[in-house]
Amino acid sequence: MILTNAVILTSDDQSPVADTLVIRDGRFDWVGRASDLPRNLDLPVVDLDGRTVIPGLIDAHSHPALVAMSGWHVQLPETQSVDELIDFIRDYGTAHPKEDAPYVYFEYFPTAVLGEGGATKELLDSAISDRPVLVQDAGGHASWVNTQMLELLGVDDTTPDPVPGLERFARDADGRPTGYIFENAHVRFLSRMYEILGWTPPEQPTPEIIRPVLDFLGSTGVVAVFDALIETPEVVAAMRELESRGDLHLHYEGAVRFRTLGDLPEALATVSALDDDSASSRVRVRTVKLFLDGTNELGSGAVLDPLLSEDNAGPLGAIQMELDDLAECMRLCNGAAVDLHIHMVGDRAFRTACDAVERARSRAEAEGDKWSLQVTFAHCELVDPADLARPAELGIIINWTNHWSGGYFGEEAAHHLGAHRWERMYDFSAIADAGARLTFSSDVVSAAELHRAAPFFGMQIAVTRIDPEVPLDPERFAESRRPAATASLSLAQLIRGYTIDAAVQLRIEKDYGSVSPGKLANLVVLSADPFSTPAHELATVHPTAVVFAGAVVSGSLPSPR
Ligand SMILES: [Zn+2]
Repeated sequence: MILTNAVILTSDDQSPVADTLVIRDGRFDWVGRASDLPRNLDLPVVDLDGRTVIPGLIDAHSHPALVAMSGWHVQLPETQSVDELIDFIRDYGTAHPKEDAPYVYFEYFPTAVLGEGGATKELLDSAISDRPVLVQDAGGHASWVNTQMLELLGVDDTTPDPVPGLERFARDADGRPTGYIFENAHVRFLSRMYEILGWTPPEQPTPEIIRPVLDFLGSTGVVAVFDALIETPEVVAAMRELESRGDLHLHYEGAVRFRTLGDLPEALATVSALDDDSASSRVRVRTVKLFLDGTNELGSGAVLDPLLSEDNAGPLGAIQMELDDLAECMRLCNGAAVDLHIHMVGDRAFRTACDAVERARSRAEAEGDKWSLQVTFAHCELVDPADLARPAELGIIINWTNHWSGGYFGEEAAHHLGAHRWERMYDFSAIADAGARLTFSSDVVSAAELHRAAPFFGMQIAVTRIDPEVPLDPERFAESRRPAATASLSLAQLIRGYTIDAAVQLRIEKDYGSVSPGKLANLVVLSADPFSTPAHELATVHPTAVVFAGAVVSGSLPSPR
């Protein structure tokens, strides 16, 4: 097939713009100007009538299986009123008796009004006490449970915190869990609860459950996704099953979690057990994932200057691993040829991780070992100005969830960080200017926010710093624009980060990331030219056709002539 009369933004530095391309056997065979097109090509010609074409997009940090498995969660009303929440939960419990709903999972509670002190098991018991109940916070890192739930989990004053200071149960003065949980510390106790209940969540990671989520991503132009945390090996099996049925229209790359230097070898072994390195495989596992700190909204980020709030993680927040262990983890990953993806939100976590890369890399080089480890820092919400050039110097990839660039998390982090640091958050312009590779992502974890994974929705927010769904208070922020306005990312930067730079992060740049001869024919035909679309309307730009490996997988192309 020949696509012509298009504005093709290739993401290929060799020839950034073209108007015609040739697809043969699922790959780009030729890309260039129509006037240079080889003659006598006996192929159907599709006239794109001046439409803009970009490479297939890559979501470089998301959670498609978590989204797929969240369908049974119950949405709470968006309110700051505790009474309204409790009434809603009580009414739900009355309308859905224990026999029909043995465990209820609500999302989300506002941590601004119900924090560690307020979200107690007793308060939740006052709504539902006859069965386990969990309420999730909007950031996905804090949970609020009732007394029944703690009992069924088997968690009490004698239960050690999985990771002291970080992955933990909030406790009263006597060490008894209060019902507030940080960093999903309960997850490793859930199987006990399910066993006692004789019940498991209705949505298991089957191909049928996961496929609609992948198809949605595909319809937004996504041709590859990085799953930042493989919850269970069944997720990988489901992806492989979809692949073998011919129903997987994107590349899947997954990461295996580890917590400490001690359990890294097991995670590395899991990676090699789950990966399939055959040339045709579209389901790969080549990365381990570490949560280095918590979230700025909960005041659990690792910071350089004291937090304004006091909790038992200490004034500088908690860090999962200090420099020595982290550098050693990087040495082990480098030796195993497994990449490293690190969750971090605080400036101390960022600096520690930069220091670790610097140390591990120079040791490897001093010892004559090849340094091929690719380290990606995800989130990086608060970075000290002294560290902004280090990702470029150290070859670190920075991943940012661009739809968070406006008001999605409100001003909650300001309670812990103060206004000055809050205003410095989410500013990637200096990191990019220094020459680092930036990649972008949706990081969606539930069906309720899946629509925000559409790349042009996120791009609009990253350019404007205004969230159309969750605006900041317009009385205090003109047009609800998040400061600083100078942190706005350019559309060109965003498209680059969604294509070629993300392909490098996933190590799929041989086949993905640009419209270049020889690569898989992945492309998106857009409804409008994003560069001439007003910034506040970018979210309306959508694919009219998505082509994956030479086949139209969403929308349609004009009929060939
Ligand atoms: Zn994530």
